[in-house]
Amino acid sequence: MTPKLKLIDIHCHLDFSDFDPSTKLGASRDEVIKRALEAGIGMINIGVDLETSQKSIALAEKYDGVFAVVGIHPHDADKKIDFKELKKLAKHEKVVGIGECGLDNVRSSTSNIEQKDIFEQQIELALELDKPLMIHCRDAHKEVLEILKEYKNNEASLRCNIHFFSGNWEQAQEYLKLGFSLSFDGPITFSHDYDETIKNMPLGRIMAETDSPFAAPVPYRGQRNEPLYVQEVVKRIAEIKVISFEEAAKQTTKNAITFFGLE
Ligand SMILES: [Zn+2]
Repeated sequence: MTPKLKLIDIHCHLDFSDFDPSTKLGASRDEVIKRALEAGIGMINIGVDLETSQKSIALAEKYDGVFAVVGIHPHDADKKIDFKELKKLAKHEKVVGIGECGLDNVRSSTSNIEQKDIFEQQIELALELDKPLMIHCRDAHKEVLEILKEYKNNEASLRCNIHFFSGNWEQAQEYLKLGFSLSFDGPITFSHDYDETIKNMPLGRIMAETDSPFAAPVPYRGQRNEPLYVQEVVKRIAEIKVISFEEAAKQTTKNAITFFGLE
C-alpha cells in the first residue's frame, strides 16, 4: 500500500555513494528518504546498470512510497549485459518501468551502435512486460525520435517519459504527438531555456524529478540534490504555468501515479 503522496520525484539515484552513511555531503541515504516520505514525497529510484538496478529494488522493498526502475544507461552500453537477469529484475512487483535507457551524444564513451542496440532491447523488454520506459536523451533527439516513432507505429501500447527533457519546443511537440510525457529538473529554476516548452505543453503530460544527487534547484544549487527538493521544481512549473503550487503538485503527482501505475 502506498501512503498518500503529495509529490513524486520520478527520477533519482539514491543508491549512489553520494548518499552512503560515511558521506561528508550531508544526511545519509536513509535519512534523505525518510525526510522526503515524511513530507509526503514519494520517489522512483533509477538503475543505470544491473548492480544499481538491484540496489534500486532493495530500496523499494525497504520503503513504502519508494519505487524502482531498472535498466542500462547509454554510458554503460559497452558492458556485457545479461538481459535475462535484467528481465528477472524487471518483473519485480515494485519495478514500475524500464530505464534509464536511450542515446547520449554529449558525454559518451560508448559507440552509437552499442547504445542503439541496448536501447532497442530495452524497448522490447518494456513492450513485452507492458511497463513504461524512462528515456535518457542528450543531443540525440532526432535519432531517439526515429527509433521511438517506428516502435510506436507497430506497438500502440509503447509508453515513454523523456527524463530531464533538454530539447526545444519543436522537439517536445514530436514526443507529445506520440503520446509521451516529459519530466523536468532543477535547471528550470535557474534557466529560462525550458519556459517555452513548459508554458505550451499540457500540464497532464508534465512530471517532476530531481535526478539526485545531480542538478540541485535554486536555492540549493551546487549542493548534493535530494528528493525533498522536487518541491522547488514543482514551484517553478506552477510559476511558468501561472497556476497555484497545489494545482501543479496535484496534477504532476496524478500524472506520475497514472504513468507508472503506482498503487
Ligand atoms: Zn538519471
